[in-house]
Amino acid sequence: MRSLTQLLRTNIQNLKPYSSARDEYTGEEGVFLDANENPFNEPYNRYPDPYQRKLKAIIAELKEVDAAQIFLGNGSDEAIDLVYRAFCEPGIDNVVSIDPTYGMYQVAAETNDVKVKKVKLTSDFELDVAALLDVVDANTKMLWICSPNNPTGNCFRETDVETILRKFDGIVVLDEAYVDFAPGRSMLGKLNNFPNLVVMQTFSKAWGMAGIRLGMAFAQPEIIKILSRIKYPYNLNILTQKKAMELISQNKEKTEQWIKLLLDERIKLASELKKLPFVHHIYPSDANFLLVRTTEPKRIYNFLVDKKIIIRDRSTVTLCEGCLRITVGSPEENRILMDALRLFV
Ligand code: PMP
Repeated sequence: MRSLTQLLRTNIQNLKPYSSARDEYTGEEGVFLDANENPFNEPYNRYPDPYQRKLKAIIAELKEVDAAQIFLGNGSDEAIDLVYRAFCEPGIDNVVSIDPTYGMYQVAAETNDVKVKKVKLTSDFELDVAALLDVVDANTKMLWICSPNNPTGNCFRETDVETILRKFDGIVVLDEAYVDFAPGRSMLGKLNNFPNLVVMQTFSKAWGMAGIRLGMAFAQPEIIKILSRIKYPYNLNILTQKKAMELISQNKEKTEQWIKLLLDERIKLASELKKLPFVHHIYPSDANFLLVRTTEPKRIYNFLVDKKIIIRDRSTVTLCEGCLRITVGSPEENRILMDALRLFV
């Protein structure tokens, strides 16, 4: 791996982060006259903890990592943007990404004026390791892998990801947004083996907390320090921090039950969809959605929208011709979807 100094944008290397008086005083009790807050309207009048210490302690225990290896963001989308801002020189650097994959890697690249070199998955949706490594050049700072991948739904072989981690001397971002639906497949446990690995996860999917916006990036402490230096000081508001602590403690078993139920529903939904004459293929999924190849994706999509059932038309995406992406819903939602689809002619 190139050193972090070599990988970082030059202006970020020397950036002096915003600091507040509460960096020195971290107690909860006191007369706080340092931040120009209003003394009334407790508890909303106070700025949140910029270091999210209590929440990180809970997540460290949950994920079995060191708190110093955790960055918390306003969704993992914030972490996606921040790694570009940390490592990629606008107009000069580039990143490598698999194709098809989650759209925000491209959007965040464009907003940061960074070029994305896209490398197609193989026809069976596996990583083309040789091709991915082949397009790397001296200005390639990051390589994006999403596993389970959105929209294809599959996890990639761990040996392939490890080959890339060993052979690419920049940052490998492994987006595991859906990994809670693929037990045993996370590479978080390998964090200490690979100094160039950044794993991203989220509370938006299996944990059912998309509305409070809480995403995670895990990496060696030096990388986490960099992300923390460039984030907005108060990126996680007090409502999110408080609610997340509550829900993580309360909902651990519930989340496991939801995962089991959704995995059962995924099997049922796939077997029902398979019976429809206009469904050609259902791809194996390690996530909470199914990629379904159909004869007429646009017409099916519009037919469902008319019935207020919204799925995702992915038919214009690389390797996904004819494909619709369907989130596995509750048993009731899946029944409503199937009842509607049976009427499609
Ligand atoms: N990564 C992937 C692969 C996703 O599909 C999504 C959301 N659709 C995200 C990240 C963003 O998650 P968050 O809600 O944490 O911003």
